[in-house]
Amino acid sequence: MDAFQYAMPTKVYFGKDCVLEHREQLAAFGDKALILTGKSSAKKNGAQKDVTTALESGGVRYVVFDGVEENPSYETVLSARELGLKEACDFVIGIGGGSPMDAAKSVACLLADPDLDPEALFGTDPLDYVPIVEIPTTAGTGSEVTQYSILTLHKKQTKASVPQQIFADAAFLDAKYMLGLNNTVTVNTAVDALSHLIEGYLAVKANFFSDCLAEAGFRAFADCIAPLRAGDYSLETREKLLLSSTLAGMVIAQAGTSLPHLLGYGLTYFKGVPHGRANGILTPAYLRLFGDSPKIAKLLCLLGFADLDALAAFLKEVLAEPEVFTEAELKQYTAIAMENPAKLGTFPRPLSESDVYGLYAESLLHA
Ligand code: NAP
Ligand code: ZN
Repeated sequence: MDAFQYAMPTKVYFGKDCVLEHREQLAAFGDKALILTGKSSAKKNGAQKDVTTALESGGVRYVVFDGVEENPSYETVLSARELGLKEACDFVIGIGGGSPMDAAKSVACLLADPDLDPEALFGTDPLDYVPIVEIPTTAGTGSEVTQYSILTLHKKQTKASVPQQIFADAAFLDAKYMLGLNNTVTVNTAVDALSHLIEGYLAVKANFFSDCLAEAGFRAFADCIAPLRAGDYSLETREKLLLSSTLAGMVIAQAGTSLPHLLGYGLTYFKGVPHGRANGILTPAYLRLFGDSPKIAKLLCLLGFADLDALAAFLKEVLAEPEVFTEAELKQYTAIAMENPAKLGTFPRPLSESDVYGLYAESLLHA
């Protein structure tokens, strides 16, 4: 067996009302919290109220930055940093989908040293960061247990993970926050979690532990396939989706994501295709690139699909028709993807520009 390492430093609390049940632990991270959220969902689903109640009970002050947009930009991170420094916040809490959780991680780096040039976020020198608490309200990204903070970089016309390793100190997982999530966001985020399980399981950096976590994630996800087809979600299904998403986060924290994520960034940046949906549209063609693979046979079996066509049919059913793209657009996205050799290197063999374009074309021109 190949040698490997495993580390996952985030303390995970799972279960209904876990924020209030563990209010003392949440309030112990500092004296004043910078709470990052999206526009409105954290207020509507009760997560923000649980957090502020927990903080108030421990005498901890807080300020809320509710301006994190989907696919958060570097500029948004800078605005949140400004508020955090002005208010002398000494820890951050991200509440929401991957967007507020990812923004919270980058902001945590920029609050640790008020004199730091924010561009240091993109340097290779590891930065300190203030304590981070993450509270997911979608079941998709697993950002609560990954070291990644993915930002939209307008200068580069794409999204990219900042080259820092930023793990949250604690994650509170309560599926009750997802009960009001509409079917479209539920499907898109669930497909994101599935793509993490698949890409991490097949990536060259997969190891024994990440495979164990991925296989547990596929089993949990299998129980959610019928509810996803029906668009009908009980609390138990929401919990299984959340478990598979967090397990998937633990997998990509070790093994990384691969081609659907790299190629999906182009669809999101230029056409606004939601992140998970973009990955799902590209997944069948990505899997076909492997040819015969015992690991693909195993993951299909764990998910309960007879073959790859059955998985592709499920994705097509829940995601419906892909958006319309031209050859010229796909060539442009291919050229941008070719500038990321690290991500291309997660595939087990070298890929040419025509392999990458072919993956786009099979998914979007000949689907
Ligand atoms: P998101 O962009 O965080 O949120 C999508 C939408 O869902 C927003 O409109 C949000 O509303 C709404 N929403 C969130 N929770 C809700 C709830 N409980 N009820 C109702 N609406 C809710 O979506 P996401 O798919 O979770 O995150 C995508 C981002 O995560 C992308 O930027 C992606 O690149 C990143 N990502 C990160 C990692 C990682 O490891 N760090 C992995 C994969 C993806 P509000 O704006 O009002 O909150
Ligand atoms: Zn993802």
